[in-house]
Amino acid sequence: MSAPAASRSPSPTALVTHPACNRHDTGPTHPEGQARLPAMLDAVRRDAELASVLVEREATPALEEDLLRVHTPEHVIAVREAAAEARRRGQIVWLDPDTAVSSASWEAALASAGCAIAAAELAMAGEVPTAFALCRPPGHHATVHRPMGFCLFNNVAVAARRVQARAGADRVLIVDWDVHHGNGTQDVFYADPTVAFLSLHLFPHYPGTGSEDERGAGAGRGMTRNVPLPPGTGAAEYRRRFLEALDAALASFEPDLVLVSAGFDCLAGDPLGGLLLEPADLHQLTTDLLERVRRPAKGRVAAVLEGGYVPGRVGLGLVDVLRAFARLPKAR
Ligand SMILES: [Zn+2]
Repeated sequence: MSAPAASRSPSPTALVTHPACNRHDTGPTHPEGQARLPAMLDAVRRDAELASVLVEREATPALEEDLLRVHTPEHVIAVREAAAEARRRGQIVWLDPDTAVSSASWEAALASAGCAIAAAELAMAGEVPTAFALCRPPGHHATVHRPMGFCLFNNVAVAARRVQARAGADRVLIVDWDVHHGNGTQDVFYADPTVAFLSLHLFPHYPGTGSEDERGAGAGRGMTRNVPLPPGTGAAEYRRRFLEALDAALASFEPDLVLVSAGFDCLAGDPLGGLLLEPADLHQLTTDLLERVRRPAKGRVAAVLEGGYVPGRVGLGLVDVLRAFARLPKAR
């Protein structure tokens, strides 16, 4: 099943970043800290074969109108004012026990959402079929109304709404393989028939949502698919459930673009996780996804960084996702 990916010639893939992302300061002990992005970039740049097909792009920060397609004005104002307060006080402001805002977090949050938008737009434009937004703060726990769980704005949702509004994507499939349930993304699109959401996650686990019977509401009934997994789930069972859910989603929904909430806390050994995937398994899952969306979405896939808290492991995971995007064999 993986042979075609390895036998085709390499394909360019984009890596989207913005320097403001890493000015988001959560303090020295927070898992979602400033060590993550440099470690990931280092891992990518050490792979010369990958670097030779990588198109690196700097994003344009998101506009407030982009945020307001997803979030309430009160939510947007709360984040901006928390950053202003952090600047005035010269210290981090906590929106909840997990979610930090520093003086640079407003600019970082706009940059992070901008990276997701740029990755989605690059894939939609077809210049490169696949792109990865290497950004923080992450997004998939941020609901319509509030930041939570390290997330200020829901980057993947902002990107979906932007390409729907401006890049001709009518239908978007969001696949979330972060170890935590993407409750915020589910919240944004729960009653929306134009965005399908598929999440595989450890359960029960933070944030507590994501049971199988959460399927969407109203016109969006059936468009949300949750695959809760017990602690210790390994690659074979994970892939079986992933393919089963993905095939079921694609049987009734033809996306113009696929977005991935790419959390690397699904890797074995993550301090906030409990699943047992290895970086090479992410290469396989990414290859599986690309094969299944080659026709419906013309192979257009944009991934957006979510969690993943052992920087070295996350770097290896990113390399294997990018190698799959580039149709290179998995890293050795
Ligand atoms: Zn997570």
